[in-house]
Amino acid sequence: MPAIDLIAPTAAECYRALVAKDATYEGRFIAAVKTTGIFCRPTCPARKPKPQNVEFFATPKEALLRGYRPCKVCTPLAARDATPPFIQELLELLARQPTVKITDADLRQRGLEPATVRRWFRRQHGITFQAYQRLNRINLAFKKLQSGETVTATAFDSGYESLSGFQDSFKAVFGVAPTRGRQQQVINLTRLETPLGTMLACATEQGICLLEFTDRRMLETELRDLARRLGATIVQSDNPHFAQLRQELAEYFAGRRQAFSVPLHMPGTAFQQAVWQELGRIAYGTTRSYGQQALAVGRPTAVRAVAAANGLNRLAILVPCHRVIGADGQLTGYAGGLWRKKWLLELEQGGQNSAPA
Ligand SMILES: [Zn+2]
Repeated sequence: MPAIDLIAPTAAECYRALVAKDATYEGRFIAAVKTTGIFCRPTCPARKPKPQNVEFFATPKEALLRGYRPCKVCTPLAARDATPPFIQELLELLARQPTVKITDADLRQRGLEPATVRRWFRRQHGITFQAYQRLNRINLAFKKLQSGETVTATAFDSGYESLSGFQDSFKAVFGVAPTRGRQQQVINLTRLETPLGTMLACATEQGICLLEFTDRRMLETELRDLARRLGATIVQSDNPHFAQLRQELAEYFAGRRQAFSVPLHMPGTAFQQAVWQELGRIAYGTTRSYGQQALAVGRPTAVRAVAAANGLNRLAILVPCHRVIGADGQLTGYAGGLWRKKWLLELEQGGQNSAPA
């Protein structure tokens, strides 16, 4: 392979290739259109965006993590050479019905081995099939949550999806229909980029009430639970606490901040609150076991309940549940992925972290 193929093309070069539908750029970039929230192959036959409305990524995974969904016309998730027919069918089904959840049981019912589907997605795109579906649903719902944008507004001019499809998706993610939300209390939502990937943050007037990686397991459940607890609707819009959060997170990731002062809003049971408060007392650069945590909250025999409450923490990093590890020093579970837990602990121990690939 000539060396030039290894060099990422510039945005200007990508745009020229996109306009020319240049097939030699297939596999070298993904074009994502900000106005529609859709990403395409370089050769997509659909209409072309203005340069200021398009951004380019190296892979479909990056576009998914940044909130985009695959184009139905050019199916950028299909492999360039040969996509197995069963994968093609699944991609088409999800394009038609983005809110449908295809479980392992559904796959078996279609005569497919879940492991085979999982392997294909992992090999082609570096994510699991379930993570792909989740990102797809969330991205569809979030695209339509732009501040001040009505449900029927501009985003639908693309003809890529129906209004009812959007409403289903919104309900699947947020638990309420979009039109009902107007009079309710509002939870503001934003996306932010970190060295460990894109995160979602939610805030009320009181403070930050959610901070999670977008590919976290159970993210939709968390969002629905939060909206229900606060009797509020989640709207993608600004909140005064976001600026402080961005600033403090940037300092944290640069190794220049050990504690956060941005206000937090943590609705939960008294027991959960006690567990979360205790997490906040684990000093930067140190770790505790679940047993030590149970002892610290005065419930030495309730190790499992303490671990469960840890897992329900909605404020990744800010409430440092990553500082709890197994009694044997093993990292144990982390909803954001063990590699992130390891990275955070190394950062806090003053280790040399490099940006993950
Ligand atoms: Zn396309």
